Amino acid sequence: PAAEAGLYSPTDQIVILNPAIADSVLFNSSSAVVVEFYASWCGHCVAFSPTWKSLARDVKEWKPAVDLAAIDCAEEANRMTCISFGVRGFPTLKFFHAYSKSGSKGEQLKGSPRDVKGLRHQIIDMMETHEESWPPACPPLEPASKAEIDNFFETSSVEYLALVFERASSYVGREVTLDLLQYENITVRRVLNTEDGLVSKLCVTNFPSCYLYYSNGNFTRLSVHIEARTFYSYALQRLPGVVRAGKQLPILTDDHKNTTQQQRPFNRSRVYMADLESALHYSLRVEIAALPTISGAALTALKQYVSVLAKYFPGRPLVQKLLRSVDSWLAEREEPELSSRALQDMLDNANKIPDAVLPDGVRWVGCQGTQAHFRGYPCSVWTLFHVLTVQAIKTPGADPLQVLEALRAYVHNFFGCRSCASHFEFMAQENMDHVKTLSTAALWLWSRHNRVNNRLAGALSEDPHFPKVQWPSPDLCPSCHGVKRNGEHTWVQDEVLLFLKEHFSSERILQDYLE
Ligand code: FAD
Repeated sequence: PAAEAGLYSPTDQIVILNPAIADSVLFNSSSAVVVEFYASWCGHCVAFSPTWKSLARDVKEWKPAVDLAAIDCAEEANRMTCISFGVRGFPTLKFFHAYSKSGSKGEQLKGSPRDVKGLRHQIIDMMETHEESWPPACPPLEPASKAEIDNFFETSSVEYLALVFERASSYVGREVTLDLLQYENITVRRVLNTEDGLVSKLCVTNFPSCYLYYSNGNFTRLSVHIEARTFYSYALQRLPGVVRAGKQLPILTDDHKNTTQQQRPFNRSRVYMADLESALHYSLRVEIAALPTISGAALTALKQYVSVLAKYFPGRPLVQKLLRSVDSWLAEREEPELSSRALQDMLDNANKIPDAVLPDGVRWVGCQGTQAHFRGYPCSVWTLFHVLTVQAIKTPGADPLQVLEALRAYVHNFFGCRSCASHFEFMAQENMDHVKTLSTAALWLWSRHNRVNNRLAGALSEDPHFPKVQWPSPDLCPSCHGVKRNGEHTWVQDEVLLFLKEHFSSERILQDYLE
């Protein structure tokens, strides 16, 4: 399809415009829209596209108030649409106010800066120029006065009022306000350092800093690792009682409690062997067995998968022994086809090798979902492969790409979620071949998993009790997070690597609930 031929795909959180939808997206919409008019042959546009994609990830929580779109003007079918918006050069960025009139040509964003932060600030500036047509989903962005704050709880029933104290030139307060716009039970307002009454009442000395104000008049300072947008937004989105709109936590009635899936108490910050063994059982005995005979690329994928398991799976000795026996059996086979039945027999230890077992059945622990259709198997597949990349780092002479290639081939040939498989293959094609070391392999998988988390945050498939976050969160690994000199969030990759090596290390895997 035309959309796929351009620089963006539907998973980029960017609305891909074409003549059939352009008018309905841009005119009379309840949200503002910022459009990139580009030509896929233009080098500047290609160079700019990663910025547009990261901006889209960065402001995805703002969608109900302002959305990002793109249109490929090089596409013959789109040409007249681009001309009708008066676009001459590429890329051109245009802001369409909410409720723009039909025929409006939008307002061009200034030439520079063309980085994520500069663009985000320009978008906020333009949002503030809405007058009577203020987008209904957009909270107030102007600074709050002491009088407004003092009277706030007389008219509002939310539990928290978060106040971001800052200087007039700072955008943090408005960014956090927009980051929280889809969350219920909290209101965010910015307060300027010049608002003396409030500044002295709360004894505020740092700008920016964030305070929580409660209906009983009490207040506390929000404690964060670094005083910056990402840390405020993350902490506020997770306050008890604050929920993403439309994502109410299910209330567990007695009926529910009987059927609820979550039965095994577990520590959310640990990895469980029961999940890893369940991943092996399900992938080898259920997912692969869906094919009655395995041949060609699928057979190669199976051999690759079992070979990395035999090398790196840090399992109980009896499981390791079984995996090694299946691996040697597969490696010795030269026939072009393998029957699933023969594989199953080997997994059930048909050769009666002493002390070799692959436990039967699944037992989710760290991967338990609050309902049967949440988490479980896909969670265990990610966990398994993170563990394998970390084990490979600790194995002298390991091949940097072997684990990732096995995962890629497994997902491509067997993973039941076919759209997951095509997304993953797309990411692998993009840059998996840039991985040259074992450490970058572990980091590559971590960052791709975060890409998936970003795409799925808020989706229907998300277990509301396990929201998709950019992982590890600041409370799991404070030192993994930093801010650049310009205040933008950045991952401290060396710390992330240390954290991955610790979190997924074989010594830390908990053995609870094993048979
Ligand atoms: P998961 O995302 O499964 O994560 C499991 C655990 O890993 C988390 O609990 C956390 O402890 C840890 N973790 C989280 N993020 C990271 C990270 N960045 N690095 C290291 N560890 C981390 N679902 C779709 O709807 N669409 C898709 O396109 C899609 N693609 C997928 C591709 C693959 C290869 C896999 C294995 C799964 C895919 N899924 C997809 C499923 C989805 O990613 C989740 O696995 C599923 O929704 C269950 O989510 P979860 O909350 O259990 O956490």
